Amino acid sequence: MTATIIDGKAAAAALRARVGTLAEAFTADSGRKPGLAVVLVGEDAASSVYVRNKGKATLAANMASFEHRLPADTSQAELIALVDALNRDDKVDGILVQLPLPDQLDAQAVLTRIDPEKDVDGFHPVNAGRLATGLNGFVPCTPLGCLMLLRDQLGELAGLNAVVVGRSNIVGKPMAALLTAADCTVTIAHSRTRNLAAHLAHADIVVAAVGRAKFVKGEWIKPGATVIDVGINRTEDGLVGDVDFEGAASVAAAITPVPGGVGPMTIACLLRNTLVAAHRRTGIVLDA
Ligand code: NDP
Repeated sequence: MTATIIDGKAAAAALRARVGTLAEAFTADSGRKPGLAVVLVGEDAASSVYVRNKGKATLAANMASFEHRLPADTSQAELIALVDALNRDDKVDGILVQLPLPDQLDAQAVLTRIDPEKDVDGFHPVNAGRLATGLNGFVPCTPLGCLMLLRDQLGELAGLNAVVVGRSNIVGKPMAALLTAADCTVTIAHSRTRNLAAHLAHADIVVAAVGRAKFVKGEWIKPGATVIDVGINRTEDGLVGDVDFEGAASVAAAITPVPGGVGPMTIACLLRNTLVAAHRRTGIVLDA
């Protein structure tokens, strides 16, 4: 069997286009564009590229982009003061602080300072709590994008066995919460899991968010499973995911490639969350 390759680029382009149209309607109703502020501290090369891409995508989706680049030696007080100013700024609907932050800064304290109603990354403990308890909030962009790809591929997810490999606050845990809310039977695997292969043997859905190149082997995948590879690993062979793509593609029903799978959905979901934030903050109903 050869798996369907899930085209995250196409799905993301479609979502960005929808968001762009709805952003125009918001501007017509409110007299201003939805606004996303992105804060980058320091010169990390990968982060700098991410921030530039987010800015471009924001403008292309008919939204306002506010980029704040601070020097690497920025103090905690200076960064908190910027977050406070963005919290107060009515033109700003979403605030994203690009991680990782330089060592002298306390990332958790910064993320917790962001107004939860502007927390379009969904990392604030209030939004994590809302997700865990089934309340409306902001869901982290990467797992949200994964869920959208799964729904496109599988439709109804109820009753399916899902194994999420990884339990980080930004991917694994919110992914497991979303799949639980979608009525999957969810297993969360991590570095202390015994016999991962035995868990994966029952998985109709596999989400790999480990951070290790080609870690999930093709022979561990249940025939006919849907495999979502979140991993981005830079190797001598270029960018590779957390799944052995060739091996898994020969048994799975569908699989995301790296690059071109989950990655593009992450930015599209960030724009979507910003659009939702703009509507919630102004009370304008999102007609989607
Ligand atoms: P973290 O390093 O925060 O978490 C990795 C998780 O994998 C941990 O829970 C860890 O377990 C688990 N793990 C490590 N080794 C093993 C093992 N041998 N067996 C089972 N589980 C293991 O990573 P992130 O969640 O932030 O990111 C994961 C990957 O996704 C990375 O490659 C990252 O680059 C990529 N990523 C991609 C994004 C995108 O837009 N496509 C966005 C965000 C991340 P434990 O908790 O026990 O340590």
